[in-house]
Amino acid sequence: MKSITRNAYAKINLGLDVTGVLPNGYHEVKMIMQNVGICDTLTFSEREDDRIIVETDEGILPTNEDNLVYKAVLLIRELTGDKRGVTIRLEKRIPIAAGMAGGSTDAAATLLGVNELLNLGLSKEKIQQESVSIGADVPYCVLGQTALSEGIGEKLTPVASPPQAYLIVAKPDIYVSTPVVYKKLDAKESYEHPDIDGMIEALENKDLDGIVKRLGNVLELVTIEDYPIVEEIKKLLVNNGALGALMSGSGPSVFAIFPDKETAEKACKVLAEANLAKQLFVTTFQNGENV
Ligand code: ATP
Repeated sequence: MKSITRNAYAKINLGLDVTGVLPNGYHEVKMIMQNVGICDTLTFSEREDDRIIVETDEGILPTNEDNLVYKAVLLIRELTGDKRGVTIRLEKRIPIAAGMAGGSTDAAATLLGVNELLNLGLSKEKIQQESVSIGADVPYCVLGQTALSEGIGEKLTPVASPPQAYLIVAKPDIYVSTPVVYKKLDAKESYEHPDIDGMIEALENKDLDGIVKRLGNVLELVTIEDYPIVEEIKKLLVNNGALGALMSGSGPSVFAIFPDKETAEKACKVLAEANLAKQLFVTTFQNGENV
């Protein structure tokens, strides 16, 4: 029986602004989304029956319809009416509940992967358009290239990719609730907004210094208030050669941009010794196809 294997990459936000709240409570955002080299690996295999089987090496993840890859197969079934069974093997490496869209990127890889495995003929545009029903970050993960994300995340405009650089991604051992972070941000009277348009210009000019200058995430305000460890990690990385550092999504992951691999690896060692982050990666921007 046929099998295909695909990587699903994590994302960071080079910029994240909240521009409004809709009547249904959803937040309107303006974000710059960027893939990084940290990925999960998914293998999709045909089955002789009509079951959806999810297997994973990460014991804490559900394997029923609560897993976003399972939800993705249900969406494919709804769109095509094709109910042939699939087995999905998920090797998990992206930190969970970290602000890196781990579940969303697995869902995106599954939509694209099962469409290909079973020859269902859905276009990437159609998949991207429908995928927002699984989660606000899924359309971006389907697109898989540097993008401005607006609306609740479904309005995507590709923008220029950043020049190559080395990154550290660090996830401290804390749990941050995304809905709580947004609620606390709503309660704030005013706050400074990141320069998203300036970030797009810096990306177009491949201007790494300009990118670093404009790194900004309004959600840091809330998360750092509750979890100062996020600020501690940022400071340590900047004091150890990072050009800049920022929290991704609602946190708690932090990424830092380095001019070269050697400096990044040295800083990574210092951070490991300080024992501030449970998961630590040295990686790069992932430009081009997501899956
Ligand atoms: P985002 O950046 O989109 O807010 P996140 O990084 O905060 O995402 P995820 O890692 O995607 O969060 O997962 C959050 C929750 O989703 C977890 O509690 C987990 O149980 C559930 N989940 C369902 N499917 C998956 C999956 N395939 N991978 C990771 N988490 C999943």
